Amino acid sequence: MIDVDFKVVNWPMKIIELGGRLTMSKRQLMEHVASKVMACEKCGLWKKRKNPVLGEGNLDADVLLIGEAPGYWEDAKGKPFVGSAGEILDETLSKIGLSRDSVYITNILKCRPPENRDPSASEIKACVPYLNQQIRIIKPKIIVTLGRHSTPYIFSKCGLAGGGITKVHGRTYEVKLLGLRVLPVPTYHPAAVLYNPKYRGALERDFQLLRRELEGLGSV
Ligand code: URA
Ligand code: SF4
Repeated sequence: MIDVDFKVVNWPMKIIELGGRLTMSKRQLMEHVASKVMACEKCGLWKKRKNPVLGEGNLDADVLLIGEAPGYWEDAKGKPFVGSAGEILDETLSKIGLSRDSVYITNILKCRPPENRDPSASEIKACVPYLNQQIRIIKPKIIVTLGRHSTPYIFSKCGLAGGGITKVHGRTYEVKLLGLRVLPVPTYHPAAVLYNPKYRGALERDFQLLRRELEGLGSV
């Protein structure tokens, strides 16, 4: 018997924290998170959003990719990485034989910051409980952190020393995150390649590393 206080209004969240046992499927748990995000007003970004972007992909994926925040097209469509950074992400995934359907893609913030400005510390703090719930539901083996917002968040949560992407990318780490054994793979944000093509090679090499880790895990 699992100790769940069903008087707690937020009881599906409690179940997520307990590891998604009981009778709710991953899909039902994620739908619950989606409904919370749809109605969320925990930071000021809800005021200007057209659509929040929860994330999408395979709930049983071994790989979770975490970007920064929705941009113009993501906000318009309610889906992650559907603009030009998304094209780069799709190309880079396909070069290692992965499709969007085989991974799960989300962001550290679920609503678009005005003019795509950087997320603030308080917005990240308000929003990351949703990301944590997604991690607990999906239980990925590998977390690819794309860029300079999701990388420090995941690193500090795992107790890893930080540093810029240039310093920390190019290798994997073995850590415990929210009680799960995961391998973070930090790399450049695909949008960085748009602004500076010199990062393309590094991004592709980091994805080759991801491929090798997946082969080692017997996932591909
Ligand atoms: N950049 C991000 O970080 N996330 C998206 O979903 C799109 C662009
Ligand atoms: Fe809520 Fe996150 Fe959107 Fe802020 S960015 S309103 S915390 S869902």
